[in-house]
Amino acid sequence: MMEETGENILEVRPRERHRQCIGCRALKDKADLIRIILTPVCRVEADPSGKKNGRGAYLCKGSPACLETALKKRALERALKCPIPEDLAESLRRESENGS
Ligand SMILES: [Zn+2]
Repeated sequence: MMEETGENILEVRPRERHRQCIGCRALKDKADLIRIILTPVCRVEADPSGKKNGRGAYLCKGSPACLETALKKRALERALKCPIPEDLAESLRRESENGS
């Protein structure tokens, strides 16, 4: 029987990198999510780079279902504290359908 005296193989994943999808509420790595932000002028837009400033919300990448859920439940509006115009909802739909 081998004795393990080496390094602790327990992997600690930094939770800070994880965000919750406002559609299905799953916690995922930021890389697997689309960030949607509210700019300071109350314009809502997608932020593929994830680097813009502003209040953000996250949705699963390539998952139109999560977007629909978030729109239906007004989770996106609540998260951003801003009404979501229909044309933005449309462009988000196109974006999430494009997937990766
Ligand atoms: Zn989701």
